[in-house]
Amino acid sequence: MSTDFDVLIAGGGMVGAATAALLSAEPALARARIGLVEPRPARFPAAGDPLDLRVSALSRATEQALRAVGAWPRLAVRAPCPYERMVVWDSADEPDSRFALTFDAAELAEPNLGHIAENLAVNAALLELVAERGVPILSEELTGLELRADCACVLTAAGERRTRLVIAADGADSALRDWAGITGEGAAYHSRALVTHLRPERPHQSTARQRFLPTGPLALLPLSDGRVSLVWSTSPDQARELAACDAAKFAAAVTAASGQVLGQLEPAAPRASFPLKRFQASRYATTRLALVGDAAHTVHPLAGQGVNLGLLDALLLSRTLAEAAAAGEDIGDPGALNRYARRRQAENAVMGIALDGIARLFADPSAPVGAARRAGLGLVNRAPWLKGLFMRQALGIARGAGRVPDPAGR
Ligand SMILES: Cc1cc2nc3c(=O)[nH]c(=O)nc-3n(C[C@H](O)[C@H](O)[C@H](O)COP(=O)(O)OP(=O)(O)OC[C@H]3O[C@@H](n4cnc5c(N)ncnc54)[C@H](O)[C@@H]3O)c2cc1C
Repeated sequence: MSTDFDVLIAGGGMVGAATAALLSAEPALARARIGLVEPRPARFPAAGDPLDLRVSALSRATEQALRAVGAWPRLAVRAPCPYERMVVWDSADEPDSRFALTFDAAELAEPNLGHIAENLAVNAALLELVAERGVPILSEELTGLELRADCACVLTAAGERRTRLVIAADGADSALRDWAGITGEGAAYHSRALVTHLRPERPHQSTARQRFLPTGPLALLPLSDGRVSLVWSTSPDQARELAACDAAKFAAAVTAASGQVLGQLEPAAPRASFPLKRFQASRYATTRLALVGDAAHTVHPLAGQGVNLGLLDALLLSRTLAEAAAAGEDIGDPGALNRYARRRQAENAVMGIALDGIARLFADPSAPVGAARRAGLGLVNRAPWLKGLFMRQALGIARGAGRVPDPAGR
């Protein structure tokens, strides 16, 4: 069967673009015909543009992967903000109480725990790289898919294209996943995350803070211009009310909800809110198709893990396909795809269950659960080995990014 591509990536969000960048950097795939389909135009923000609303906490493992493919230095003009400490506490306590959990990069002799970076800039940097490496970016939307034993046929308004493998990176509502007949387990959280940037009265001191309220977690993430990015997960009604109310009312509400941890918080950007859900696909691969990123798994944003998990998918899939190519195997062969799928599905399922458990634990208003939760936070804080385990998990070190391809083939 003649094909137009060896690998076609559907969706050029952060994970799809990273997958394309990683594949195009694999020496074993130097001759592979790789393509990316993304209907939305990429836009790298100019140096003086205001910071976009959507930012992500990127782990050290993600930074290493972005650095190794050459995307990280391109972000410098948008100044990702390193965070050196993390403080997590229950609304019944104070952030400096013995029941608060504090992580400090210095305890692991690391320079920081990660960076808060602008989604737009990460995405555009990766797409720029992909284009420079000669990967065609098709500005089209996939409208259909047929999976055959020897190739995948994708449909766009421009016609049909054949590929030996299609990688679905088309996000949480993945149409490719549905067309491939892959189901999964998940549910809506009946919660929305309100996001905006705020100007705090007191300096953020490069610290990411999260206060667990009965209605959901409220996170204040440090930005390099001194502001903090708010991610406030709450009931849909409250999120809508907070998104629409006037600035003075919003400032009073968010300052109170933060427990005044940074003093008065002043609104300093527009507000938007996003529905929250959890989902794990029942399988990450089928005939001639693999899932990566939110198309495979969607998790609660309380630990800032979505993109980081997606990057780990991209790393393992690109490495697995490179190994298959080096061994002379067909890269759409089920053997290689299943090796990728089994490992990432198991790892992401553990993380998904853990995050869901934490979200439920902190939302439980009963007194015994509240007491157990506070004792648990205090216990982790005082048990160095347990704390180290959590910190390495947050850094992405525990799961390990593995070998990252070097575009220069070193
Ligand atoms: C409030 C909030 C805060 C978050 N904070 C963090 C954080 O701090 N850290 C973190 O790691 N994660 C965070 N996340 C999660 C993170 O945003 C997602 O995990 C991540 O954006 C998923 O990336 P993706 O590339 O898989 O999917 P998407 O970003 O959804 O990209 C999918 C792409 O596919 C394209 N597409 C869709 N359909 C088609 C089609 N038919 N044909 C072709 N292309 C198509 C779309 O145009 C889009 O560009 C947060 C999420 C939320 C809601």
